[in-house]
Amino acid sequence: AKQQGKNQFQLYAPEMNEAALDQLVLTNDLHHALRRHELVLYYQPQVDLQTGQIVGLEALVRWQHPERGLLSPGQFIPLAEETGQIHAISQWVLHTACTHNYAWQQAGLPPVRVAVNLSAQQFQNHDLPRLIQRTLLETGLPPQHLEVEITETIAIANPEKAIAILQQLRQMGVQTALDDFGTGYSSLSILQQFPLHQLKIDRAFIRHLAPGTKEAALVRAIVNLGHGLGLTLVAEGVETVEQQTFLQAIGCNAMQGYLFSQPVSAAAIPDLLQATLAR
Ligand code: C2E
Ligand code: CA
Ligand code: CA
Ligand code: CA
Repeated sequence: AKQQGKNQFQLYAPEMNEAALDQLVLTNDLHHALRRHELVLYYQPQVDLQTGQIVGLEALVRWQHPERGLLSPGQFIPLAEETGQIHAISQWVLHTACTHNYAWQQAGLPPVRVAVNLSAQQFQNHDLPRLIQRTLLETGLPPQHLEVEITETIAIANPEKAIAILQQLRQMGVQTALDDFGTGYSSLSILQQFPLHQLKIDRAFIRHLAPGTKEAALVRAIVNLGHGLGLTLVAEGVETVEQQTFLQAIGCNAMQGYLFSQPVSAAAIPDLLQATLAR
């Protein structure tokens, strides 16, 4: 900690490490980021493995920092969660994603779901369904074209509250997905208790996916389990044709990953949607 008294002038106390100082500066910058329109949404397509059509777009936030360049969510979302700035950021993400998707539909592009990532803090807030309801009304997006992604960590932090919120969202017609499936410790009880439409199989299982591997057995089991529960399955982080072929063979519904497309700016989406329309 900084020393008081005669050392007060010492702004950069040696014991205040560089990383902590850096976080402090970034927190202050983040405070202005929304007002200065420095946050941007990228979108990564989810592609139906049978038809090749884009069925969803996951909204992934980036921060166009004036000095540091394009920052990935890992560089500022955890910080925003600590400081509470995550609420304003999440609301901006939700509103912007709904606005973009509404505009794409109005332009006559094939309708797709837009998926937003929810943060644990948003589940502390009982008003979340109302906030989402209001955003849908303001932007005009039909509820079935919005999907929320939650992680197992969020789900188990306060299961009763999370279930209640997801039930309200489902009643409104909003789709719900469990993100990073298989990386937590309570996956199976979550599937039993939570109102979900979609499971996203974590990249950790897809990365080493090849016929005959343990990952192949696991992914096949997850797909069968999910289908048995009436869920659709999306494989995350698909990078190779081999992975795609295997997923097709076992009946996985959709894929998301660099093989089809990296996350791209909103400006690039109309062409991508148009291209699958022409198929
Ligand atoms: P996620 O929800 O699991 O998102 C998928 C991440 O995997 C994205 O990283 C994406 O760029 C990356 N990815 C997609 N396909 C591939 C692939 O084929 N190979 C590899 N190696 N990576 C792939 P990104 O955009 O850096 O986002 C990281 C995480 O930040 C997200 O993980 C999500 O948890 C969080 N995040 C992103 N946007 C938001 C947001 O608006 N709100 C909140 N609360 N969290 C967000
Ligand atoms: Ca996600
Ligand atoms: Ca994920
Ligand atoms: Ca992840």
